[in-house]
Amino acid sequence: MTQSFFPPHRVLMGPGPSDVSPRVLGALGRPTIGHLDPLFVNLMDDVKGLLQYAFQTDNALTLPISAPGSAGMEACFVNLVSPGDTVIVCRNGVFGGRMQENVERCGATAIMVEDDWGQPVSLDKVAAAFSAHPEASLLAFVHAETSTGARSDVAALCALARKHGALSIVDSVTGLGGIELQVDAWGADAVYSGTQKCLSCIPGLSPVTFSPRAVERIQNRSHKVQSWFLDMQLVMGYWGGSSKRAYHHTAPINLLYALHEALLMLREEGLEAAHARHRLHHQALVAGLGALGLEMAVPAEHRLPQLNAVRIPEGIDDTHLRQTLLQDFNLEIGAGLGALAGKTWRIGLMGQACNRSNVILCLTALSTALQQQGLATDTGAALVAADAVLQA
Ligand SMILES: *Cc1c(COP(=O)(O)O)cnc(C)c1O
Repeated sequence: MTQSFFPPHRVLMGPGPSDVSPRVLGALGRPTIGHLDPLFVNLMDDVKGLLQYAFQTDNALTLPISAPGSAGMEACFVNLVSPGDTVIVCRNGVFGGRMQENVERCGATAIMVEDDWGQPVSLDKVAAAFSAHPEASLLAFVHAETSTGARSDVAALCALARKHGALSIVDSVTGLGGIELQVDAWGADAVYSGTQKCLSCIPGLSPVTFSPRAVERIQNRSHKVQSWFLDMQLVMGYWGGSSKRAYHHTAPINLLYALHEALLMLREEGLEAAHARHRLHHQALVAGLGALGLEMAVPAEHRLPQLNAVRIPEGIDDTHLRQTLLQDFNLEIGAGLGALAGKTWRIGLMGQACNRSNVILCLTALSTALQQQGLATDTGAALVAADAVLQA
């Protein structure tokens, strides 16, 4: 029998999606209007402006691709890579491997720079790759590796690319809204993100931004972009600055209401305040996890506040523990991905999910579930340790 679907209220502390505020869900339910309605065209302009603020950029080509983060990734690669190009791709987790796939599917050669999972991208290795491959026209790397919880130095990597006459593609799907990202000041050329991580919007859109240098490369392409849907020259005609818009596809209208609301909330809080909130609650969570006897998987100086990778203690049943959290506490945390499957948990503190009650809930639930599996933990000590950070 078919019937309406009523999902439970979960607390989303995994690698995304993150908790969506009722304000954003409310915006989603407003009346659908036409995508060429003048009022909707105004909203599109507003969304662009708010995204420029979030990305800290004046780039005119800043907009949300009508599909999830993976589509933003493809948009960057298919527009900036041509057959025969050489691209330096950094891999220190799952998402660098996807960049390699993109490069190769564009008919280009990926020169891989490998770093251990949990470590940031090594500047020395990237510099060596540029020396060995002076023909490289692009550098691609991940700002915030959601699979491991490590942060890489966007400013330094983009500067290296520029020094060698290459453009940069930056995956900041998990970075945007959670940690500092200065697209213009750091000289990043193409950056893609997602809506369901630190922006706390529903999944399905991918904010992207392209520098004037990147736009110039797109305009000077001799090969047509292999993807019709993601060809930025066509997308620009729809989202472009002039008032006359050419139909390209139907924008996901209500999703854009939701993104607009989520970006307004970020603007109201202010980027710096949002980053500080992520840092503070991360420190509180780490203090509490430490009091439970759990170890972090990433060295302190490279940790992402919004994605906390924790080592699973010896003898603990990973799947069973996460089931307990979901069934008994309505709490979702992430499993390890790829090489880290079964070895780590990934606890997200993304966007709206990054708050005091969630830190307390997560520590209490984890401690209880660990005790059920025979590990002696001190829940009270964990809560005191976390609160000591929050009250400091
Ligand atoms: C989530 C994520 C993606 C993919 O985004 P989707 O919206 O799932 O397509 C890409 N890169 C990173 C670093 C991510 O965390």
